[in-house]
Amino acid sequence: MIDGLKKEIEGVRRSFLNEIAQIQSPEKLAALKERFLSRKKGIVSQQLLKLRDCAAAEKPVAGQLINQLKMFIETELARIEEKIGARRGTQEQWSDCSLPASDLPIGRFHLIAEIQRQIEDIFLNLGYEIASGPEVELEEYNFTALNIPEYHPARDEQDTFFIEGFANMVLRTQTSPMQIRYMLDHQPPLKIISPGKVCRKDDPDATHTPVFHQVEGLLVDQGIHFSHLKGTLEVFCRSFFGPDVNLRFRPGYFPFTEPSAEVDISCFMCSPRQGIPPAGTSAADAASRVQSDCKVCKGSGWLEILGSGMVHPQVLLNCHIDPEIYSGFAFGMGIERVAMIKLGVPDLRMLYENDLRLLGQFG
Ligand SMILES: [Zn+2]
Repeated sequence: MIDGLKKEIEGVRRSFLNEIAQIQSPEKLAALKERFLSRKKGIVSQQLLKLRDCAAAEKPVAGQLINQLKMFIETELARIEEKIGARRGTQEQWSDCSLPASDLPIGRFHLIAEIQRQIEDIFLNLGYEIASGPEVELEEYNFTALNIPEYHPARDEQDTFFIEGFANMVLRTQTSPMQIRYMLDHQPPLKIISPGKVCRKDDPDATHTPVFHQVEGLLVDQGIHFSHLKGTLEVFCRSFFGPDVNLRFRPGYFPFTEPSAEVDISCFMCSPRQGIPPAGTSAADAASRVQSDCKVCKGSGWLEILGSGMVHPQVLLNCHIDPEIYSGFAFGMGIERVAMIKLGVPDLRMLYENDLRLLGQFG
């Protein structure tokens, strides 16, 4: 009996060695382990069952032989497992330089910078220059030269950050002081836009932050009148928001322009539904407009986007430009505001939270 068992065990051992010699993958090794060592149907377990047929005197020897087989198989499996794992590790350290590079995430401009660049591109194509100025500004340029007198509420501490220890300096509340700086340094014709950061003492909410961005535009030359302003803003709005937007000029008030106008664009979400005619068609059916539940324009059909007007003669005089010879127009808009309208971002603060999911969504 023992001799027969010995032969059988030797047969199992050889067949195991033959099979394991051909194994290259952990999956095949696991299958081999299952076949030989599985507790119920494994080949070794089948051998153990034969102990029942052994004579009592032979049982210890037979048990030992089968246990030795089991230990041998376990040791070999562990050795080959380690070998395959090491080979894999080595393969992972090597790389094939001839393969194409894997995709890397590519950076892009922040939405505010992106929108600013889009605005700049449109005006650069219209022949404007970009003029940048300091963010800490003289009170004179931020207010007085722009025809904002000392008693004007915009100067109030509620709106303006004053610089401690420098009575005549503020964090600029608008990019307009750059117009003053440019006009003091250059003679007409002038054609500039001035983008940049401005500060006002606002509590953050869905439409306000203490720091935001503006773009101002200024054109001064002989014979400039309101239709030049209107035409320029039409070109800008249709380039930026889309060829179908319509513009509406409403009387407004700014100390540095006269006359002044607030400019609205037709709501690109709902204006066709509301009967606001697309650009280039008559406005006859304005009366037939229906109120909508549009959240973008709150049902009005219009979106306020910028302030504008003809440069006040006093501002030209403050910059030593003769208003009898020259005239000009100016306009200004909040970059965050137009970004929110164009991209459909509902809360201004989202632009500053820098959540990559939001920034990537509009990439
Ligand atoms: Zn709307």
